[in-house]
Amino acid sequence: MSDLHTTWTAEVETLSPLHIGTGTELLLGYDLVPHRGQTYRVDEDVLLEQALVQAESAGDAAMNQLLAGRPAAELLTAADFDATSPLFRYRMPGTPFTRTAGAQVQEQIKDVHDRLYLPGSSLKGKMRSLMERRLGLSLNRYVRRGKPEVRIHECDDATQYAECDVCKVFGVAGEKEFATPTRLFVRDVALSDEDVERLAVLDTELPYTEVKWEAAIDRITSAAVPRQFERVPAGVAFKPMQLVFNFYEGDDLRLLRRVFEAMELVQDDYLGGMGSRGYGEIAFENLTLTLKTGDYYEDPQTSPAQDIREGISLEELRKEERAIMGEIEQALGGD
Ligand SMILES: [Zn+2]
Repeated sequence: MSDLHTTWTAEVETLSPLHIGTGTELLLGYDLVPHRGQTYRVDEDVLLEQALVQAESAGDAAMNQLLAGRPAAELLTAADFDATSPLFRYRMPGTPFTRTAGAQVQEQIKDVHDRLYLPGSSLKGKMRSLMERRLGLSLNRYVRRGKPEVRIHECDDATQYAECDVCKVFGVAGEKEFATPTRLFVRDVALSDEDVERLAVLDTELPYTEVKWEAAIDRITSAAVPRQFERVPAGVAFKPMQLVFNFYEGDDLRLLRRVFEAMELVQDDYLGGMGSRGYGEIAFENLTLTLKTGDYYEDPQTSPAQDIREGISLEELRKEERAIMGEIEQALGGD
């Protein structure tokens, strides 16, 4: 049975803005420079290199001033602001609320080419934490200490693990002798080609993100402080998202149902940061559920992959869940 698995492809639509932070704070005037209604992300290496060459020819005083750590904004002239300039990695519509040099903007996660994507780990992590909460599991392991503190549940021994859907589906850290293979894998997913094109023609060359600021209340001083974010706009789709579920033991069908459940929990909750302010509302659309048996890997001609459902929403999938489970069980039995 271990050689049977199901794959879904799906689309993740943003119904509200989405912010998945990297934990890095970009500094205004240094990393981000506002200019004429847009915000430019500076490529520090290129800018520094250019400034060094200029300072070198201008003499020691200029060099010293440069090395004293002047903000990037002071090294740029109006003529530099061109989205095709190598001095910039990307630019975004909108300018920050606070123009003070050194003001912080929370960075949105992007790939190495500065393209937006949805990390599979973010989605899987959110599914896990909502399922932990729903099942009332104790959060006994720190993933991160400090602000914000992140704790998850993780089984300590074989007895616990035998009864634990969360650890079997989502995995345990490191080598645990009692653990069976993690059932669920969620791959990273890119912004859809259509949205890359659509967003790119709006206004600028690389407006994959926008800058947004929210007045947040400082819990200690009760003062309103602007918190600024890079964010993904509402109304875009990440696709094709891929989730893989590997069957390992007899009762794994039950675990697969947990995955559907967890997806619905995410849809009813939020993904990323600022959920209490309406961020991170998403929907799973256009799901296709495919089943592959061990025989398929032997010979896909005689045992082709089987599409159990095609192009349905998560609501439809959940309504047909029993029928779907029956069909998968049959395929398992006939394997
Ligand atoms: Zn557990």
